[in-house]
Amino acid sequence: MDADVIIVGAGPTGLMLAGELRLAGVRPLVLERQPQIRDIPKAGGLSGQILQLLRYRGELERFEAASPAPRPAPRFPFDGMHMDFTQLADPPMQALPLPQPRLERVLDELARELGAEIRRGQEVVGLSQDDATVTADVRGPDGQDRVTAGYLVGCDGAGSRVRDLAGIPFPGITYPEVQRLAQVTVPESVTVLENGDLDVAEVGRISFGFTRTDRGEFAVGSTNPALMGLYTSEDESADYDDDEPMTLTELRDSIRRVLGVDLPLGEPTRLTRFTFHARQVERYRDGRIVLAGDAAHLFPAPGVALTAGLLDTVNLGWKLAADIHGWAPAGLLDTYHDERHLAGARTLLHTQAQVALRRGHDPAADALRELFQELLVDEQPLRRIGALIAGSDIRYLLPGHDHHALIGTFAPDLTLRTDRGATSVAEFMHTARPIFLDLDDRPDLRKIAQDWQHRIDIHTADTDHRPADALLIHPDGHIAWAATIDEPTDTAALVLREALSGWFGTPLKTTVPIIDRPS
Ligand SMILES: Cc1cc2nc3c(=O)[nH]c(=O)nc-3n(C[C@H](O)[C@H](O)[C@H](O)COP(=O)(O)OP(=O)(O)OC[C@H]3O[C@@H](n4cnc5c(N)ncnc54)[C@H](O)[C@@H]3O)c2cc1C
Repeated sequence: MDADVIIVGAGPTGLMLAGELRLAGVRPLVLERQPQIRDIPKAGGLSGQILQLLRYRGELERFEAASPAPRPAPRFPFDGMHMDFTQLADPPMQALPLPQPRLERVLDELARELGAEIRRGQEVVGLSQDDATVTADVRGPDGQDRVTAGYLVGCDGAGSRVRDLAGIPFPGITYPEVQRLAQVTVPESVTVLENGDLDVAEVGRISFGFTRTDRGEFAVGSTNPALMGLYTSEDESADYDDDEPMTLTELRDSIRRVLGVDLPLGEPTRLTRFTFHARQVERYRDGRIVLAGDAAHLFPAPGVALTAGLLDTVNLGWKLAADIHGWAPAGLLDTYHDERHLAGARTLLHTQAQVALRRGHDPAADALRELFQELLVDEQPLRRIGALIAGSDIRYLLPGHDHHALIGTFAPDLTLRTDRGATSVAEFMHTARPIFLDLDDRPDLRKIAQDWQHRIDIHTADTDHRPADALLIHPDGHIAWAATIDEPTDTAALVLREALSGWFGTPLKTTVPIIDRPS
């Protein structure tokens, strides 16, 4: 075999998965059709739960160091409305500016440091699988080649060739609005006022934020006083050529149609257009072929796709590795579909709700928007929607979830005291290994966990206000099992054994190779 896992596509999802697989001790081979990382302006940065996960991996600083700008105040659009988390002590949603080409460079560097092989200029054009292997036909500058591995993951984006070759349907909707997004310098005839409004010579004042008209939506806003961030959304048959870059004239015409004014524009630093889709595959896996990222789901609102795709990979990586190492219990890989399909459906829930809020052009829709905006002023709904868009409220329906309210949720970053000093859940997660965390000196439970010590890390620690006597945490940060406070040994031990063997197989004395993190 040429690798343990073939990853098709070196976009953010494929590169992140390559790193996760290396951390779990298996050999990925990434095949990317483009000869190099392209400077195409797509996502402007990372937001939501992936930032927390990168912190749990000990890698957040690397991404922050690559960011071209300080973190913006936590204010986000919820379609045409604003969610302002600035008054909350711990905002549920945060963003890190990191243009996608830079993000891909950081992920590429990280994956290579961990030992992943990335071959660029290699397009996958054919696939076949049997009970033990997957084979990909690959076209490159030197002709056609064939590579074989135990699994193949399609991280090849919205138009996924892997998905098509595997015959996996991609049901859903494509919405008719065309969105245009631009950043231009502020021309002399425009003054940006202190509250963000524009004062335009011979036109008048244009309000900061979203303006809705009969023709669609317009928005202006920027975190950089030298630049105007501009956005239009209008119903239009998408007859533009995707390969033709958007022009300043196209943007000017769109603003004229939507807003009815000729807005003077400076030099563009970013010009993009796109349409929204709401799509999700019904099966994330077909035998030895698996899908992740945009290949598996598309959401009809901005700012959530990267988090969804990158979190797919942290769920998938260790499960594929367990299978390749030969200790995965039956059904482990199917839990990737169960958990990430549920997470994708939850992201579709709020992004499609945003479509409903956006597309209504009658008094009833106006009333819905007004009511929704009122709710977004109160802390509780603001927190709830914030956690939903961040993707931090996901609770997987794991076996035994009735046993403890924490099972299936993302582990809180508890501050911990150990014999070796102060630490935290986040620090323990740097190894990307499963963790058994004893929070109440429970030798009865530790002793059981020790049978699986080759596959999980075992820690004992104290914390203030412990939420459970002990926790079992997956490498993706979600809690697989928890003992209630002072839970008697007999019930706790029974459920713990079930969880350990359900997730980590029979406790054979095999050693999972761990590779050192780069210092
Ligand atoms: C204008 C715009 C703005 C966006 N803004 C945001 C944002 O602010 N926040 C956010 O979260 N998301 C945003 N997105 C979405 C985000 O860019 C995508 O979700 C993200 O790129 C998906 O990553 P991916 O790795 O799954 O797929 P892609 O990034 O599409 O990567 C797929 C890779 O696979 C390669 N490939 C395809 N077919 C083959 C093949 N047959 N063989 C080999 N290689 C192949 C491609 O060349 C590509 O490199 C935006 C998108 C656009 C277009």
